[in-house]
Amino acid sequence: MIRYYQQLSLKNQIYVTILVAILIISATIALLARWILISGLTKELELRGIAVAHSIAERGAGFVLEKNSPELLSLIFDEARLRERQHMINYIYVLDRGEQVIAHTFTFPFPSQFSKANPMPANALHSVRLVEHGVNTSYDIAVPMSEGLYRIGTVHVGLSKEHIDNLVSRLRFMFLGFISAVIILIFYVSHLISSHITMPISRLTRISDELSRGNFDFNLDMEESSVDPEGNLGWGMTNCPAYKDTNMPCWHFDQQSKRFSNIDSKNEQLCKTCVFYRKSHGRDEVTQLADSFLNMVWSIRLYRKRLQESELKYRSLFDSAPNPIFVVDCNNETILDANPRAGELYGYPLEELFGMPFQKLGQDHIKDCIISIDKSEIDNIENVEHTSNNQFDGESTAKSLNIGDSRDYVYYPKILHLKNGGHPFYVNMHACPISYGGTQAIVVAVTDITEMMEKDAQLVQAAKMKTLGEMSAGIAHEINQPLNTIKMGSEYLNLLLDQKKTITEAQIRDMATEISEQVDRATEIINNLRAFGRKSGLTMERVSLSEPIQGVLSIIGRQFSIQRIAIRLDLAEDLPQVKGHNNRLQQVFFNLLNNARDAIQEKMEYEPELYGDILVRTYTENGKVVVTVTDNGVGIPEVVRNKIFEPFFTTKQTGKGMGLGLAITYGIVRDYGGTITIDSKPGQGTTFSLTFSPVE
Ligand code: ADP
Repeated sequence: MIRYYQQLSLKNQIYVTILVAILIISATIALLARWILISGLTKELELRGIAVAHSIAERGAGFVLEKNSPELLSLIFDEARLRERQHMINYIYVLDRGEQVIAHTFTFPFPSQFSKANPMPANALHSVRLVEHGVNTSYDIAVPMSEGLYRIGTVHVGLSKEHIDNLVSRLRFMFLGFISAVIILIFYVSHLISSHITMPISRLTRISDELSRGNFDFNLDMEESSVDPEGNLGWGMTNCPAYKDTNMPCWHFDQQSKRFSNIDSKNEQLCKTCVFYRKSHGRDEVTQLADSFLNMVWSIRLYRKRLQESELKYRSLFDSAPNPIFVVDCNNETILDANPRAGELYGYPLEELFGMPFQKLGQDHIKDCIISIDKSEIDNIENVEHTSNNQFDGESTAKSLNIGDSRDYVYYPKILHLKNGGHPFYVNMHACPISYGGTQAIVVAVTDITEMMEKDAQLVQAAKMKTLGEMSAGIAHEINQPLNTIKMGSEYLNLLLDQKKTITEAQIRDMATEISEQVDRATEIINNLRAFGRKSGLTMERVSLSEPIQGVLSIIGRQFSIQRIAIRLDLAEDLPQVKGHNNRLQQVFFNLLNNARDAIQEKMEYEPELYGDILVRTYTENGKVVVTVTDNGVGIPEVVRNKIFEPFFTTKQTGKGMGLGLAITYGIVRDYGGTITIDSKPGQGTTFSLTFSPVE
């Protein structure tokens, strides 16, 4: 029963509950009323019967004493037949003191059992008993007949039970009719109440069903009247400025202050009549629940619209990005998504890229990348790129950086990737973590830098050519020296021949050795020049830093000494090798030495007696290979120290400096994963320290 009740809808439960409750109450009232009415009616009839009997007992006492039976008979007949009493009274009879019938109203001989049917106790005022006589049943009411203190007889009045029952059943019928009418009314009213209570809930159920099916654009029932008679906006979307323009905040949805700080006055009016303002004060809880639910639906719609717009925005950014972007699964390193530019640059149809292992596109950095992203997420390490005053870091390995929104990303500069067909090209690669359809993934953005690298190389080459031009005087001087020696030797030999002097074997041998040494020296200079001028390849080699230092010195050393600048070398003998290019490193040292010379010459202008001193040191420190170039020039003022690595920054006269030397030096050192630091005291000199990682 209870289970059946629980299976009913809320509407029917309310309906049945009200009905059952009111039926029980009605039935109880009916039973009570019936009992009160029937017992009251029976009592009343009894009282009337007693009254009739007393009346006869008083008026008939004389006739009994006189034994005047005819008068007594006439009296009881009159009483029995009086108006409606004839239906109520079945019989009346009077007994004398000896229980003998004196008079009766029976139309047949007095039934003898009657005299004993309701005996009157001695001191009782009356006695009532139900007696049967023939087919009839009567309430026999016996009342004593007295004369003074003496009892002279008994009056019996028989009230018709059938008459009483008729009255009761008529009463019952009326009562049942009334109760039925009440039940029908209750039936109808409880139906109305249950429908009224459950109507908003049914509507909410309908809406919830639509929402769960993903249909958010259904009619909310109330939105046809988008403005109600009180001027409040309904759930229609057309009026809401925040729905039309998703950049505008909605105070309800975005938890904005209700003071509308971001909303102009026209929209303020609109918002003041917005449904969210309308708290259903004074309305029942179900209506309030329905309102809150509709507010929630509205918020979901707004949220969904914003989400769709944002998704479209980012999708179009992704699709139209000028650089390739990939989404790579962290678990199996395959490509989950890629933008059209990726297909274009790598030469694959997009469908082929989806599901392809990322390693197929290039060097296997993706594994490191996933590991470093995982690590950085776990450790939440902040490695901020150092571009502080004096420190300039090169990067050839991945960097985990912390950007504005504190999400980590890793960066791989200048890595080699392959196009479809195996054609190599260089890219910078950024990667950051995302959740892609529930899968842990990384977004990899790559920039094709091949062209930039070629331009870089051209720039370095051009700078080298310029350097060669600058060095030409020194080179000429350097080559002149062995040539002069050879010339002097050959002229000495000619002189001996002209003077017909004998030339000893030892003299010829000395001369030949000297000439050979001078030729070797000239060859070395030329080889150094050729190595310096050669365009360096993209792949790095192992270089011992002493080589490029010596190479540069062989070209410019003499020139510096002519300019009263001594170059002292303090090179560690067992210095570990580093990764790089010999001629590019020559370029680095040439730039540093040139700048040192310029700084010394600048100082010589106001300190003419100054002797220039440049110290080049190499050593290892904390597992790194360090080179320092120290001069006793003018030094670098604090204000320009941050700028000297910027391209085209120069403090030198026009025509003397182009401002590219240190920019190129920084670029080369960064490519090799090294750092440059400056220590300078204005007026005293400068030390440039270069740090490289040794090759294992
Ligand atoms: P350029 O030599 O063509 O001016 P650089 O990039 O090589 O370009 O140098 C930029 C500037 O840095 C120089 O103009 C100079 O002011 C400063 N600078 C570089 N090295 C030194 C040094 N050793 N001593 C003082 N100033 C220096």
